[in-house]
Amino acid sequence: MTTAGTVAEGATVWLTGLPSAGKTTIAHALAERLRAGGRRVEVLDGDEIREFLSAGLGFTRADRHTNVQRIGFVAELLASHGVLALVPVIAPYADSRAAVRARHRANGTGYLEVHVATPVDVCAVRDVKGLYAKQAAGELTGLTGVDDPYEVPQDPDLRIETEGHTVAESAAAVHALLVERGLTT
Ligand code: ADP
Repeated sequence: MTTAGTVAEGATVWLTGLPSAGKTTIAHALAERLRAGGRRVEVLDGDEIREFLSAGLGFTRADRHTNVQRIGFVAELLASHGVLALVPVIAPYADSRAAVRARHRANGTGYLEVHVATPVDVCAVRDVKGLYAKQAAGELTGLTGVDDPYEVPQDPDLRIETEGHTVAESAAAVHALLVERGLTT
């Protein structure tokens, strides 16, 4: 709880992982819990961003990098105004993630990286958007984790397994990290 006149500390919480790993689901469950606790929260949904902020960008290495930098910039702006910016976006390249983290650090804004470490075979069964099926059928190429790179975070603030866990449990694990870092109670 913040007292009148003080602004809660914001931060960016980047949920990185393969398509269908659970990033979006966890972000929204966590957002609900944080809002119920009185925090200002924004979920920067990857698909929405691609429609507006990153319209025209594709899925080459360069475009994926640009997309992540733009999202990182917006997340940081929000975070610097006391918002918890939850970012469920694949961000497959370590150097893209490192650049976002470095800019947050340089500006004194909190940044946490959460690796949603669902194995590719589990993601392919979930296949929320049908992307794995399309790739298998030869209708799509460049699917992260299948025929496009995913560089596994080497030193995330938190790594969670979603397999065998409920959404509430996974969201609680990220919530516990925020409590530990003094970002919520
Ligand atoms: P992503 O945003 O990573 O592409 P989504 O969140 O859209 O993935 O989809 C993940 C799917 O996995 C959802 O259908 C969700 O209900 C399911 N799921 C099963 N267990 C979990 C869990 N513990 N955490 C998050 N999602 C889970």
